[in-house]
Amino acid sequence: MRKKILVTGGAGFLGSHLCERLLKEGNKVLCVDNLFTGSKDNIMHLFTNKNFEFMEHDISYPLYVDVDEIYNLACPASPIYYQIDPIKTIKTSVIGSMNMLELGKSLGSKMLQASTSEVYGDPEIHPQPEDYRGCVNPIGPRACYDEGKRCAETLFFDYYRQYNLKIKIIRIFNTYGPRMNPKDGRVVSNFIVQALKGEDITVYGDGSQTRSFCYVDDLIDGIISMMNSDDNILGPVNLGNPEEYTILELANKIVQMTKSKSSIIYKPLPKDDPLMRQPQIELAKRILNWEPKIKLDEGLKKTIGYFNDLLKESQL
Ligand code: NAD
Ligand code: UDP
Repeated sequence: MRKKILVTGGAGFLGSHLCERLLKEGNKVLCVDNLFTGSKDNIMHLFTNKNFEFMEHDISYPLYVDVDEIYNLACPASPIYYQIDPIKTIKTSVIGSMNMLELGKSLGSKMLQASTSEVYGDPEIHPQPEDYRGCVNPIGPRACYDEGKRCAETLFFDYYRQYNLKIKIIRIFNTYGPRMNPKDGRVVSNFIVQALKGEDITVYGDGSQTRSFCYVDDLIDGIISMMNSDDNILGPVNLGNPEEYTILELANKIVQMTKSKSSIIYKPLPKDDPLMRQPQIELAKRILNWEPKIKLDEGLKKTIGYFNDLLKESQL
């Protein structure tokens, strides 16, 4: 049966891939976005689909629409953008989530919250399992994002306990792929764009900090499996690729794959930048039968291809 699905943040990097996949599966999709970090360019190809609708709206204000499922992805996700207006970032996570939960409560819809590995902060446990409660600086420059997302998780569980709402929470680890915003300063897009343009590759700190990178298609499989899982699977469930790399390894790999003449330069490490991050994904494997399939080299090749096309069209 065709479902009516709301995707908040649907004009962003992950949201646009999610809308695309849900439409392919035959659903009706309502994409709601205030276009702060997202763009109509990401969803332009979906406008001709009669099952797709776009609404420009800020989720920190109430929304009244009729849907069966809600994927709540709206929130700026990169430090550059979420720190522009930190109070707005918290509002989006906290008041925005509450507005979506109120909508879900009135309709009885199933709800999924896109949480983040940032709820673990600068972790003391490695890799991070879901029952690790994290090490977040509540007053640091990343707190508007981290604490906002932590509070959103609390709200989702309280709506479940108080109103028996059907909720799902996923914690997304660093994800990359086509349609990343080249201006949002994330490491994969920064390094690829710098390498393609022959500019210096900016490694922050000494490059020994680690991240584990998941290709977007794998992540979308995981998100949809979670929404479609049994109602008693609430999460939080980690979704990410456990293959871990230092940032310097990533820089060298991208230089080599793009055959770039760029040099690597070192810049100061931003405050509260986590030293390491790697998801433990045993839970997702067991309850969702999900694990990432796309290796970093294969995913980077596709992502480099995407940015190369943008460069040729003079869009970078
Ligand atoms: P993105 O910035 O590309 O997408 C976020 C979207 O939300 C944008 O289209 C933006 O315009 C929209 N938005 C922001 N504030 C809004 C508001 N108040 N009302 C309506 N729309 C609003 O980022 P992304 O990487 O696609 O991330 C999507 C979600 O996944 C975010 O919630 C993010 O926290 C989470 N996440 C992403 C990653 C990752 O590696 N990409 C990792 C962890 C968590
Ligand atoms: N980073 C870097 N150079 C850049 C952009 C990021 O060395 O041009 C580092 C950043 O300091 C962090 C890692 O890469 O240690 C991942 O950064 P990103 O913003 O992509 O994700 P997050 O820190 O939120 O995991």
